[in-house]
Amino acid sequence: MDQEIRRENDTVRERQLVNEMQIVFDSRSENEGFARTAVASFVMPLDPTIDELADIKTAVSEAVTNCIIHGYEMGPGKIFLDAAIWDRTLVVSITDEGRGIADIEKAMEPMFTTKRELERSGMGFSFMEAFMDALEVESSPGRGTRVVMEKEIR
Ligand code: ATP
Ligand code: MG
Repeated sequence: MDQEIRRENDTVRERQLVNEMQIVFDSRSENEGFARTAVASFVMPLDPTIDELADIKTAVSEAVTNCIIHGYEMGPGKIFLDAAIWDRTLVVSITDEGRGIADIEKAMEPMFTTKRELERSGMGFSFMEAFMDALEVESSPGRGTRVVMEKEIR
């Protein structure tokens, strides 16, 4: 599908799909940098500012780190990254097939972490929310988690 209609409250917006890519990689910490750089290269044709690029890289890192640390708990697994550009908006989706999240609302609260012993600060979702225009989290306990983020390159 390369055209979609979005309804945001009262405004109806049509947007065109410009480009898409998908990568699948192992749940290993060294792939966090790979994923972040891959998405950064993918948005380069839109000529993002240094700040926009930094925001995207941070958000992707946080989401991928969560798959590695929480989803697969440092064990083996695959991480699925899909990215698309709709007009001037980057849409990135990062998915794992790990343990899932029981209470998403609680997990998204600032400073909430289930890994206090690993000195996590519980700010990952807050950063994703702050640095991107939109953040959506879907999860099924025992099945996995998907994070979808959007950012318009202005
Ligand atoms: P920080 O990101 O600051 O290092 P954190 O990872 O604990 O700490 P968040 O990224 O905000 O903080 O995530 C909050 C909580 O949501 C996690 O502690 C974990 O319980 C849960 N969570 C997040 N992502 C996943 C995932 N992919 N699979 C399972 N649980 C997750
Ligand atoms: Mg995190």
